Amino acid sequence: MVKRIHKKIARKRIDFLFDEAAKAAVSNDLKLAKRYALLARKIGMRYNVTLRSRQKRRVCKRCYSYLYPSINCRVRLKDGKLVTPCGECGTINRYVYRER
Ligand SMILES: [Zn+2]
Repeated sequence: MVKRIHKKIARKRIDFLFDEAAKAAVSNDLKLAKRYALLARKIGMRYNVTLRSRQKRRVCKRCYSYLYPSINCRVRLKDGKLVTPCGECGTINRYVYRER
């Protein structure tokens, strides 16, 4: 049975893994960054914890690569959508946003 405390720990671990993934991406170790992103996703699935929206936007929807703008992906705004083509597999990830 998944208790609330387990979810809290999972959330912390996911945040930590995404921090580490960012550090790895900055030091040009994209393979390690991808591994961290995969682990974070798996932990999320195991404990039914959703990734934060800013974390979700950092992972390619198709190949699960960790996307770091200016290193392996671009970020453009088009027709009310945030468009980020994956630098690894070429998939175009789109996310809607609301202007305020
Ligand atoms: Zn991809």
